[in-house]
Amino acid sequence: MTPSYPSSRPVALVTGASRGIGRAIALDLGRTHHVVLVGRDRASLESTQGELPDASVLVLDVADEASVDAADLPEEVDVLVHSAGVSGGTTVAEEDRAHWRTTFEVNVFGVAHLTARLLPAVRAAGGTIVLINSGAGLFSTPGGAVYSASKFALRTFADTLREEERENGVRVVSVHPGIVDTEMGHGAISDGGHPERMLQPETIAAGVRAAVDAPPEAQFEMMSIRPSLSPKG
Ligand code: NAP
Repeated sequence: MTPSYPSSRPVALVTGASRGIGRAIALDLGRTHHVVLVGRDRASLESTQGELPDASVLVLDVADEASVDAADLPEEVDVLVHSAGVSGGTTVAEEDRAHWRTTFEVNVFGVAHLTARLLPAVRAAGGTIVLINSGAGLFSTPGGAVYSASKFALRTFADTLREEERENGVRVVSVHPGIVDTEMGHGAISDGGHPERMLQPETIAAGVRAAVDAPPEAQFEMMSIRPSLSPKG
């Protein structure tokens, strides 16, 4: 049975809400929305929930087709944010097929499947779908083929979805951050890189907030958020 979300607030469903960028987005949207916090780790999701006035927890592995099909999802969704994602990889010569598969299962197939399941709910609300992509969805570097290919696929998915849903009053936003100060970001610079140039997860959340709050006649189709290299304020 589909649960009712007993809240007078608009509903935002955020995947990857247990930590990192998704958590920051959930905390920001939680100022105005009832947030459905999605991830695999119940304890971390409940910790985020504890910081919000009005939120619920949905434990879900987005790569698990059966669990997405069985999930109790809201009937109206004003904002759907896909932040759950995995990274990592090596050169094409050294990549193994299992890693290609697991990355695409989370970063692409999981997003596509959950989006399809939630589209009626997003249409019902005239809502906004936000896909947390990456700079790696705009350009690729050595050792990044798997992650980049998944994020390029996600960008194409966003572009197609945006055109398909334009007439249905659904907005689709593709957000492309540089390196962000999260577990994943630290993994990305562990063998070199510039920790001082990391963006904060709250900065990405502010970009998402701007896209969500944009007047209804406008949509922020693509947002590339890069370090300014100015001193942090
Ligand atoms: P993170 O700190 O590693 O967090 C990843 C999140 O994804 C966690 O909440 C994790 O939840 C969730 N997740 C992973 N696999 C999942 C699955 N199968 N089912 C459900 N949830 C799953 O990463 P992050 O830095 O916040 O990254 C968030 C998004 O931003 C990703 O899409 C990433 O590609 C993108 N991005 C990150 C950076 C960066 O530098 N950090 C830069 C550009 C783009 P649990 O493990 O608790 O289930």
